[in-house]
Amino acid sequence: MRIDIISIFPDYFAPLELSLIGRAREAGLLDVRVHDLRGWTHDRHNTVDDTPYGGGPGMVMKPEPWGEALDEVVAERPARLILPTPSGRPFTQADAERLAGEEHLVFGCGRYEGIDSRVAVDAARRMPVEEISIGDYVLNGGESATLVMVEAITRLLPGVLGNRESHVQDSFASGGMEHLVEGPVYTKPGTWRDQEVPPILLSGNHGAVDRWRRDQALRKTARNRPDLIEATPVEGFDKRDREVLAEVAE
Ligand code: SAM
Repeated sequence: MRIDIISIFPDYFAPLELSLIGRAREAGLLDVRVHDLRGWTHDRHNTVDDTPYGGGPGMVMKPEPWGEALDEVVAERPARLILPTPSGRPFTQADAERLAGEEHLVFGCGRYEGIDSRVAVDAARRMPVEEISIGDYVLNGGESATLVMVEAITRLLPGVLGNRESHVQDSFASGGMEHLVEGPVYTKPGTWRDQEVPPILLSGNHGAVDRWRRDQALRKTARNRPDLIEATPVEGFDKRDREVLAEVAE
């Protein structure tokens, strides 16, 4: 996968050289290029913002550098453009799974009061464009939102995680967990500060362990994310699921 990121703070993306993503890049599984938007300005001060039409506080990112930057970055190969913005659709694990299937993603990081709205309209004439929010709060810029999305997407690429199975059981993962968060996890020692690991996990009975894990996931979801349970059609739960949910509701 190729990822291009356009920002006025390219140094923000140093973490993409670390850990699993850093290793994936070294292994050639992932090609990440970070571009400084100011490289597409033509004035002495490398201006990227101006006052908003209609008045009001703050500044708005000018369309010209963005237009030139996007023209150049997508010239070589087709891409899908992601514009992080609090006014976008909420980012979910399903989006991460879908976007992990793309060959080329471009992230455009806004600052100030955002990017002149004509940039997204113009880009959509040449490529698919998605405005995506990482949550109902406002950040200073799209850089941290891009880091979040890049991490969620790239950890799903084949070969990036050590254990290929590990994201299948994650919270929200398609294939059974899409409406659930993961339950509690444990490692050695078996007893720690008077707390014992649940004996079922030591039983060696894989079927019983899987069922116990699902029960725990249902309980934790009901406790922390009842909205997910409420939004799930009844067919999304089997008979035992429904029993566990009824117990939790009592
Ligand atoms: N005036 C904008 C509004 O109220 O919707 C907020 C602009 S914010 C200060 C500057 C930039 O941060 C945005 O253009 C976007 O790139 C990024 N940003 C802020 N919050 C975000 C969020 N929740 N999700 C994704 N990107 C966000």
